[in-house]
Amino acid sequence: MFIRSRFSRRAYPNTTPEANEMSATSPRPSPPFTNGGEGEKSVMRTVCGNTTAPDFMATSGRALTRLATVLIIMVAAGLAVSCASQPGTKTSALNRWRAENQNWRGVHLWLDNEKSAQELVKTLPGLAAAGANVVIVEVNYSFEFTGHPEMRNRHFVTRATAHQLAATARQCGIRLIPQFNCLGHQSFGGHIAPLLRQHPDFNETPSQSLTNKDMYCLSWCPRAPGLNDIVFSLIDDMADAFEADAFHVGMDEVYLIGTDECPRCRGANPAELFVAQVNALHDHIVGQRHLAMLMWSDRIIGTKYQGVSRFDTAQNDLSGAIDRIPHDIIQCDWHYEWKRSYPSVPYLTAKGFRVLACGFLPLKAALAFSEDTERRNDSHVLGYIATTWNETSITNSPAWPPIKEILPRWRDGGK
Ligand SMILES: [Zn+2]
Repeated sequence: MFIRSRFSRRAYPNTTPEANEMSATSPRPSPPFTNGGEGEKSVMRTVCGNTTAPDFMATSGRALTRLATVLIIMVAAGLAVSCASQPGTKTSALNRWRAENQNWRGVHLWLDNEKSAQELVKTLPGLAAAGANVVIVEVNYSFEFTGHPEMRNRHFVTRATAHQLAATARQCGIRLIPQFNCLGHQSFGGHIAPLLRQHPDFNETPSQSLTNKDMYCLSWCPRAPGLNDIVFSLIDDMADAFEADAFHVGMDEVYLIGTDECPRCRGANPAELFVAQVNALHDHIVGQRHLAMLMWSDRIIGTKYQGVSRFDTAQNDLSGAIDRIPHDIIQCDWHYEWKRSYPSVPYLTAKGFRVLACGFLPLKAALAFSEDTERRNDSHVLGYIATTWNETSITNSPAWPPIKEILPRWRDGGK
């Protein structure tokens, strides 16, 4: 069965319908974790109003005095206030977030240009008011990389705005997590991402034409010499600018892996290639940078739970990877179709992974996934992420039904 694409043609006007198609099907997977603390009990708190950080800073001294008075009164009334200045280090901010939040109430947004990033700065207070305490921004190559500036897309988010987003998110009690798609998704429709444009030798399938209707998107070759050093540099630039304590590496919908066309990968077990890439990323992100690592779950739960894409081949079943990757990776388990139950969640938590249920549209399906997951009362379930895929503008996202109607259901204490 095929469902609407996660990749709206509004975002990629040149994307073909074929490239937009993806498989949708069933539920999912898995194991244990070492980065404890993500699911602690938290307290209810008042979320912020509509004051953005720049507006707040620009407020006159007299207004600040009035605001301070109001804050004192609110604190005296026993109310915690977010979207106010919260000084401290990244670690102290994370500890505060963990203490205040039991459940993740997340929003996933594409962020591929400076204008959108500025809109998000202004929208974060509204998202917090709608219940969000996590925002994942999928930036990919649309960033002001400094280590490898040749990897920037033509339109990109500046480092300065990334810092501004980080500061505003902290003030709003929101954990901001950047995302860079690894391995797969190295092309969209007729557009090849900078890595494979700059390094055609990194392409797992250089003969694949972007007009090939049986090809979803290109992958990089996980055995390409020198590739990981570049990727780690890009990740580091983003993690630093977004002041991140967690990083999402994508890894979804990898259909071209271990192909006969690649002299480095020919004959290799695709699952082993996938595992090697995940572990290399984990060594850097968790081992070296001490960040939490998130990834999409569709490849490791396999077709039994995710379903078969028309772009899948019998040779690239990666589900064997599930028992060979670190179990402290937070699994983002996405399903966009209505089902009576979503067994991939207990499959993943039984393996020891912490899991985020990631829904989208239609609202009926998103509600079903959220309710089925919440009903399990599984301590390894961290919460829920509303993926948006450009079906809402950033500015209007706080009022978008899948966010507005589902996130409050994951209020702490309501689980
Ligand atoms: Zn290869």
